[in-house]
Amino acid sequence: MRSSLSILLFVFFVQTAHADVRVVATIKPVHGIVSAIAEGVVEPELLIDGATSPHDFSLAPSDAAALQSADLVFWIGPSLEPGLEKGIRTLAQNAEIVSLIETEGLFLLEMRDVDAFSEKSLVAKDHSGVGSHADEHDHGHETEHGHTGIDPHIWLNPENAVAMAATIRKRLSEAFPEKADILAGNFAQFEKSVESEVEAIERRLTPYAGMPFLVFHDAYQYFERRLNLAASGVIALNPEVAPGAQRLRALGELIEARKIRCLFAEPQFDPRYAEVLAESGNLTIGTLDPLGAELESDPEHYLKLLEGMTDAFERCLATTG
Ligand SMILES: [Zn+2]
Repeated sequence: MRSSLSILLFVFFVQTAHADVRVVATIKPVHGIVSAIAEGVVEPELLIDGATSPHDFSLAPSDAAALQSADLVFWIGPSLEPGLEKGIRTLAQNAEIVSLIETEGLFLLEMRDVDAFSEKSLVAKDHSGVGSHADEHDHGHETEHGHTGIDPHIWLNPENAVAMAATIRKRLSEAFPEKADILAGNFAQFEKSVESEVEAIERRLTPYAGMPFLVFHDAYQYFERRLNLAASGVIALNPEVAPGAQRLRALGELIEARKIRCLFAEPQFDPRYAEVLAESGNLTIGTLDPLGAELESDPEHYLKLLEGMTDAFERCLATTG
């Protein structure tokens, strides 16, 4: 009786020893990858829900509490979530912070100069009037937002997501050493699913290689490069500042010069500017959801995010040509 009770207690203790290890992920794509790797081990908490852009997120008291009680925090890094930097440094003092942008083996890209890149598309078509409006541009924007240096939208390259998942598996295995086998199994499954998803995506998007389109903010070059897509320009130079009349005029010229028929809005940002442009140029508006903001937060989230992006590209670009 006594020994069976102590065995029971022992089993109980082992099973609950890590029940209070709290894992927090900042944005939905990170949360989705952590959920896939941690399935059956721990349920991560999500800090920034889908309705907010990580670029202009600021901490609410409930978020502060989540950080304060966290043991392990996964985030991309300060260049993506600048509003979290201070909170993570001061509130999550007892937690281990994993900046996934520092993951080894990531394929990294420099932030594009979106202004010049739209400009180049215009020049390439030898469009008249380029010189005059190039001089009007406001070149102060680079310092106003987080989009300089390395492009932080790293998860939009599927191989990067797998590299991040490897880091996540390693860190979770340190926190839950007795669950290392489950974590390794989940990682292997994740890697395999992403690989077959990528094959499917490649098949679906190959017909649209090189077709022109506009995106709302410059978040997609990882996805574009990997899948031979090529944005002709971006609507908002800075995701936190609405494009002005001058910018919209320049975009109108770009649309004409490149014969753009497809432009993308995003769920976190006001679609008005996309609508104005689409109307004037007779374009199709698609919605790209780089955060998977409108998807369920579950272990399948990342795969559904890739599928959603693929659906959006396929639908919008099919109207081109
Ligand atoms: Zn962004």
